[in-house]
Amino acid sequence: MCIFCKIVEKELPSNTVLENEEFMAFHDIYPKAPIHVLVIPKKHVESFHEVDSDTMAKMTPFIQEVARTLGVDKTGYRLVTNIGSDGGQEVLHLHFHLLGGGKLRWDHGHGDDPHKAL
Ligand code: AMP
Ligand code: ZN
Repeated sequence: MCIFCKIVEKELPSNTVLENEEFMAFHDIYPKAPIHVLVIPKKHVESFHEVDSDTMAKMTPFIQEVARTLGVDKTGYRLVTNIGSDGGQEVLHLHFHLLGGGKLRWDHGHGDDPHKAL
């Protein structure tokens, strides 16, 4: 079982933001912005490239609800999903990174200090 499936099954702890029957949002353990939340489908899907359109259609309002819950819906945020090896995907269970909490820079290599992402 992959680590995000273990989080879904509560075999691993997570700092959950929002959850329903099909989706879950929890804080990233190594935040790269003041707000860094991961949004996943509960069923195991390897990446965006494998996800079906029905799941994506339902995931969209869930992600919007997560943004409202975090209070970034008005100020804005960034959604990122890494796909495969060249995309830098480390956990092979589809997840969207929701980043926000300040004006995000648009570049690479800002390291792991959350505030350097601003
Ligand atoms: P990616 O490189 O797109 O696959 O991103 C994987 C993300 O999962 C990274 O930002 C990690 O910090 C995060 N991560 C790994 N393990 C955990 C965990 N147990 N709980 C929360 N976030 C995690
Ligand atoms: Zn999984």
